[in-house]
Amino acid sequence: MSTAIHWFRRDLRVADNPSLVAACTHGEVIPVFILDPEFMDRPVTPRTHFLFAALRSLNESLGGSLVLRTGAPAEVLSELARATGATDVYCAKDFAPYGRRRDTEVAAALKAHGVKLRGVGAPYAVDPGVVLKDDGTPLAVFTPYFKRWMNVGWADPIETPKACWATGVGSENLPDIEIIPHSIPAASEKAAWERWDVFAGTALASYPENRNSPGVDGTSMMSPYLRFGLVHPRQLLAESHPHDVNKSFVSEICWREFYADVMFNKPQTAWENLQTKMNVLPHDTGPIADERFKAWCAGRTGYPIVDAGMRQMLATGWMHNRVRMIVASFLVKDLHLPWQWGARYFMRHLVDGDLASNNHGWQWTAGTGTDAAPYFRVFNPTTQSEKFDPTGEYIRRWVPELEDCQAIHAPETADAGIPSGYVAPIVDHSVERDESLRRYKIVSGK
Ligand SMILES: Cc1cc2nc3c(=O)[nH]c(=O)nc-3n(C[C@H](O)[C@H](O)[C@H](O)COP(=O)(O)OP(=O)(O)OC[C@H]3O[C@@H](n4cnc5c(N)ncnc54)[C@H](O)[C@@H]3O)c2cc1C
Repeated sequence: MSTAIHWFRRDLRVADNPSLVAACTHGEVIPVFILDPEFMDRPVTPRTHFLFAALRSLNESLGGSLVLRTGAPAEVLSELARATGATDVYCAKDFAPYGRRRDTEVAAALKAHGVKLRGVGAPYAVDPGVVLKDDGTPLAVFTPYFKRWMNVGWADPIETPKACWATGVGSENLPDIEIIPHSIPAASEKAAWERWDVFAGTALASYPENRNSPGVDGTSMMSPYLRFGLVHPRQLLAESHPHDVNKSFVSEICWREFYADVMFNKPQTAWENLQTKMNVLPHDTGPIADERFKAWCAGRTGYPIVDAGMRQMLATGWMHNRVRMIVASFLVKDLHLPWQWGARYFMRHLVDGDLASNNHGWQWTAGTGTDAAPYFRVFNPTTQSEKFDPTGEYIRRWVPELEDCQAIHAPETADAGIPSGYVAPIVDHSVERDESLRRYKIVSGK
C-alpha cells in the first residue's frame, strides 16, 4: 500500500478513467485539480463556468475528497507529494502545446523529489501520433486518417474504480467568478449521459440526414462533455458503433481526433496557417475592417443565418456545426479578415472551445488547413441558409426581428423592406466573393 496522486485535467469523470484506475492500484489516492494561473488569470468564459460546475459535481462523485489547489502545477504537485508522502502522480496524457510543455516541467520537478509522473490514457480513443502512413509519417488528409484510425481501433470502456480516496488533505474552495450572459448546459457525468440518452433515443438513427440542419435537434451536443472529459470518446463509440451503420457519427468523433493529431504533429498550426503558401493572402485592416468585425461578433451583419449563429453562441456558448462553417467562411471570404480573429472570438464564447478542433475547424473553412477542397470554394450564406434551414426555423429562433419576415433568408429583398430593428447586409456577397477569388490569385500565381 502506498499513496498516489491522481491529477485531474481534461478527464473530469470517475467512469472509464484509466489513469484513475491505475492510481487506485496503489491503495490510497489523492484526487487533485489544479487551478493553473495560465488559465485562471484569463477572462472568465463559459468554459470557466462549465469547468467549475463539473468540478463541483466531480467532488460529489468522490465523496467530497477532491483537493483543489491554486498555483503552477510543478510547484503544487511537488509540495503535495512531499506533504503526503505520495510516490506517484497519475494523469491522462495531454497532447496540446501548452500541456506538453507543462508536463515536461512537472515530470522534471517531481523527479527531483523522487516522484514519478505517469501518463495513462488520453482524451482520445487513439492517441495523437499513433496513426501514421506506411512510411511512418503523419497524415494531413482526413479520409485516409479515418481508415487507418478505424484499423488501429480502441479498447472497450473499463470499470469504475472502488473508492480509495485519501481523507484529511486540505482543499481550497473554488473562487467566486463573474457572472456571464450565456446559458450553458449542466456540467456533470449524469447530465452528459442524460443528454446522450435523448440523442441516442431520438436522433442517432437520423443523424446522417439531420446533422446539417441547425433548426433540428439532430446532433449529440456532446462537445462540452468531451472537451472536459465528462465522457470519453471511447464510451460514445461503444454506445453508438453498433447503431451507426454508415459510421457517420463515428467519423465525426474521428474529426476531433484527426485535428488533435494534426496539432500534435505541427504545434505551430494552433495559430499559424498549416498551408504556409496562404501566408501571402492579403487581409483587410483599418476602421472599416474593425467595424465589420464588430458587426460579425454581435450578429448584426444583415445575413440572417450568420447573425443567428453568432447570437446562438452568445446566448448559449454553443453553435451548430453547419453554422460554424457558414459564419467562419463569411468572416474570412466575405469580410477578408484573418481566421485567427474569428478563432479567438470563438474561444472566448464556446463552452466546447478546444484549441485543436476550433483552430483547425477555422483553418479548414478558411482554406489554410487540412481541407482537401481549396480556398476558392466560397460558401454563399443565402443559399446555405435556404438549403439547411429551409423554413427559417433556426433563424427565427435567434433573430426575433425576422419573426414575420417573408424573405427570411434575404430580408433586404422583402416587399415590405427590411423589418424594423434588423440591418441591411454590411457587404454584397457576390462582390466579396469575386474579391476573394481575386486575392486568391496572388497565392496561386494564376
Ligand atoms: C469554425 C469551427 C470551429 C469549431 N470549434 C470547435 C471547438 O472549439 N470545439 C469542438 O469540440 N468542436 C469545434 N468544432 C467542430 C464542431 O462544430 C463541433 O464539435 C460540433 O458542432 C459539436 O456539436 P455536437 O457535439 O452536437 O456534434 P455531433 O455532430 O454530435 O458530433 C459528435 C462529436 O464529434 C466531434 N465533432 C463533430 N464534428 C466535428 C468537427 N468538424 N471537428 C472536430 N470534431 C467534431 C465533436 O467532439 C462532437 O461533440 C468547430 C467547427 C468549426 C467549423
